[in-house]
Amino acid sequence: MWPPPAGDARGPERQAARAARRGVGACNLEHRGDPKAVQVTFLGTSSGVPTRSRNVSAVALRLPQRAELWLFDCGEGTQHQFLRSELRVSQLSRIFITHMHGDHVFGLPGLLASLGLAGTCSGIDLYGPDPLRDYLEGVLRTSSTRIGYPLRSHRVKESAHTGALLLDDDDITVRCTPLTHRVPAYAYRVDQKPRAGRFDVEQAKALGIPPGPIYAELKAGRRVTLDDGRIINGASLCGPERPGCSLVYCTDTVFCEAAVELAAGADLLIHESTFAHAEAEMAFQRQHSTSTMAAQTALAAGVKQLALTHLSPRYMPGNAVTPDDLLAEARAIFPNTVLAKDFLSLELAAPEPDPGTAQAGESAADPATTASSRP
Ligand SMILES: [Zn+2]
Ligand SMILES: [Zn+2]
Repeated sequence: MWPPPAGDARGPERQAARAARRGVGACNLEHRGDPKAVQVTFLGTSSGVPTRSRNVSAVALRLPQRAELWLFDCGEGTQHQFLRSELRVSQLSRIFITHMHGDHVFGLPGLLASLGLAGTCSGIDLYGPDPLRDYLEGVLRTSSTRIGYPLRSHRVKESAHTGALLLDDDDITVRCTPLTHRVPAYAYRVDQKPRAGRFDVEQAKALGIPPGPIYAELKAGRRVTLDDGRIINGASLCGPERPGCSLVYCTDTVFCEAAVELAAGADLLIHESTFAHAEAEMAFQRQHSTSTMAAQTALAAGVKQLALTHLSPRYMPGNAVTPDDLLAEARAIFPNTVLAKDFLSLELAAPEPDPGTAQAGESAADPATTASSRP
């Protein structure tokens, strides 16, 4: 809930403190959904400077099937936000940086140094704009910080301009595109590849096929000869291929066609919404988006859900315009919009073969949000 109710003006911080006293993270474990679901957690949702309830930019992507955690942007204090969440920073394997403004990168040296001291990091792949390598080398060298694990740095500029994939492995692809901001900035898109159809165990049992390693063969769609001579085609026991889910992270930018193209048909678009619609002129001057620009991008791209983030600290509770007003402006154009807040988690449900069932579920640190958003 935003703004926090009166008397609990530091809502998320108080919840986190209470949770810390109980010895658990800020997120409510009882209300977590599918543990196998891809999960997006906002670790910072303010633009420029942190506020009492919103830290600067960072979004974590949890990929349980790979036992990996990815991070998009790393504003100052992101490692503290990790500590207050239930996310396991030891699973961090890839970090994607959108651009070199301080509210997106000032947390990076500290996080990378702590990962080294923890001794549990097996390596990090770091993606970002050209100056990212020099920035990190400078900070780490002048502070005599040694990173004891492999840190592989990838420049994304060329991929962004050619459309080449940044990453393409067995189950996932990542691509990026240039945005329109005061410095070079890039949006990222993650797509899970389609997965094999569901194996119908009941039908297999009904056919008298004994459970065992043979099920793995059938699940993979292979032909198997049973002891009694029957030949079973595994593909006939599997449902249709299941599409993967997709996520786009788009900040900082003023409205641009490249973002619309990158986000086409995505399950979730996380888009900056620094300003309210009334500040459109300032948004153009500073090359940021208004709530309505974010919604127009979501609408034009045909995404399933939009999450607004990177809100200007000017929209504080009690001010003339609040984050809820920005949300209402966006919903007037794109109804399936949520307002991100620190520690909000969204579960990305991979769309089922039946297109009518695709939807992103929502869970959150705060039980009120959880209760209101779960059946
Ligand atoms: Zn920013
Ligand atoms: Zn910026």
